[in-house]
Amino acid sequence: MIQNPDQEELQQALAGLPLGGVRYFERTSSTMDEAAIWLEGGAPDLALVVADEQTAGRGRLGRRWFTAPKASLAFSLILRQVDPRQPSLLTGLGALAVCEALENLYRLKPQIKWPNDVLLNQQKVCGILTESHWQGEQLSGVVIGIGINLAPSSVPPVNAALFPATCVQDHLRVQSGASPQVDRFQLLAAILERLLVWRSRLQATSFIQSWEARLAYRHKTVQIFQALDKEESLLTEGRLEGLNADGNLILRQANGEIQTINFGEIRLRPLSSNGGL
Ligand code: ATP
Repeated sequence: MIQNPDQEELQQALAGLPLGGVRYFERTSSTMDEAAIWLEGGAPDLALVVADEQTAGRGRLGRRWFTAPKASLAFSLILRQVDPRQPSLLTGLGALAVCEALENLYRLKPQIKWPNDVLLNQQKVCGILTESHWQGEQLSGVVIGIGINLAPSSVPPVNAALFPATCVQDHLRVQSGASPQVDRFQLLAAILERLLVWRSRLQATSFIQSWEARLAYRHKTVQIFQALDKEESLLTEGRLEGLNADGNLILRQANGEIQTINFGEIRLRPLSSNGGL
């Protein structure tokens, strides 16, 4: 079979990792859709789907995720051996792995906007989407989807993003003065490597601590919005204290009471009067 150069590069970059298989697409609707089909057809644990371009990449609640050819990294990893109590931790696993890879490779200082976004300098550079697949009562697998903006053309137009967006290359330029290219498959391998390390330690206190240490707006006041049909309403507001053992968010309200925000379809925003946007 004739491979395109991207595919060869990808195979080389991933050579040392214990993956269950790799499917590469120059263009597809969404790596999440491809992963779901593969899962249904019996994909092994750690099967990976990578796409250069997604025509219908998605975020949570059916929102669009913008992916530009040659400028973004978009992939979905299938996990088959998942404890049904753990899916909520897997979004944190993806976010932590992305942060550590960006730190290790590029000395950047990413932060996690709980629950599913990675920020560089308070701008969104990466989104994570975790989807669970069930066969009756049985959890058949979880897919972790990760989209990262690498080059400027991957950043959606201002009016298409509900939160300011950025890309890795812009931050490397600010940091080094030069405009280095990001080797996306090297970054992919570095993320997968960290993800595999932490996957075996999801129950360890060090996992929650490492995730928590990277939370954006820690000790600041944040607002939590809940999606109701097409509307959003303010659910609560409080000082972001950290995470509990299940990866849920702990807020301290103005009256001193502690409130736990369950991992779910909520949206977090910093309070603008408090160093926010
Ligand atoms: P928010 O990021 O507004 O807090 P969210 O985390 O629920 O919400 P996601 O579902 O993760 O959002 O991602 C979808 C949203 O991200 C879109 O509605 C759009 O605002 C924004 N977006 C889409 N593509 C990109 C991209 N490539 N880079 C940054 N932001 C994007």
